[in-house]
Amino acid sequence: MKKFTIFGNPVSHSKSPLMHNAGFQALGFDAQYTRTHLLDGDDIKNTFMAGGFSGANITVPHKEFAFKHADILDPLAKQIGAVNTFVLQSDGKIKGYNTDALGFYESIKELKYIKSILIFGAGGTSKSLAVVLKSKNFAVTILNRSSNGEDFFTSIGCLFYTWDNFESNQKFELIINSTSAGLSDNLLPAPQNILENLLTNSPYCIDCIYGKVTPFLELAKLNGCATKDGEDMLLYQGVLAFELFTNTKVDEKIIATMREALKKTSQN
Ligand code: NDP
Repeated sequence: MKKFTIFGNPVSHSKSPLMHNAGFQALGFDAQYTRTHLLDGDDIKNTFMAGGFSGANITVPHKEFAFKHADILDPLAKQIGAVNTFVLQSDGKIKGYNTDALGFYESIKELKYIKSILIFGAGGTSKSLAVVLKSKNFAVTILNRSSNGEDFFTSIGCLFYTWDNFESNQKFELIINSTSAGLSDNLLPAPQNILENLLTNSPYCIDCIYGKVTPFLELAKLNGCATKDGEDMLLYQGVLAFELFTNTKVDEKIIATMREALKKTSQN
């Protein structure tokens, strides 16, 4: 039986084991996926090897440690600077991937009319979204509370603003919250006056946070925007990692099984 895990701190809340184990079972793939609570990110490689794992996912706060300790990097992970998936290769080397980026893209593929996108936040998630969205030729603007990350975003062709220098009467076809505002508090990702101006001009809003209606999504609904949370993003980053783990291209049936496992756990 092959062994897989998710590294995080905390990790007990993670829905990945249920999603992956449901997929393994549906595929008839002999494997087990567990959680590993990892305190020190610098121990990630030794813990992975000592555990006899064939693959792993990596969540907060270890994605940059995973990037640092992978033996080989997929080009997209290299560009983003963060790894959320490890795969043990046949030569014994660990290859690091970032499936958050393409997982998010997969989750918005149905929104075909979109050209201009505004992202709140400039952390790891924002970087992965911006890299993949720029590579698909979207016009991407970043709005963050501080100037953290400005050089990274401008170097890949995004416009970058902080709350102080942002003109809020602009139109964006999609607005994404990739900040942690709303995750475990009731905060909005930007000042309310900026948000209200933006929301009157934007048809669609997504929050990367999943499993709850955040203050941002509540305000977006009040302003008549269509909304969605981060559940699809979570699903598709998992599906892409699952394909790497099992070396298969999954079909809609497996994806539906993984989605169902995620929904069941959301209700618990
Ligand atoms: P980071 O810590 O790397 O970045 C957080 C960003 O949020 C920073 O830009 C920070 O600003 C900003 N921020 C934090 N608090 C506030 C606030 N109160 N008001 C405004 N801005 C704020 O986090 P990640 O990028 O890793 O994660 C961001 C969110 O995305 C989390 O909520 C996480 O749960 C979610 N996520 C969802 C996934 C999914 O599969 N659905 C996958 C990955 C993440 P500053 O730079 O000034 O500090």
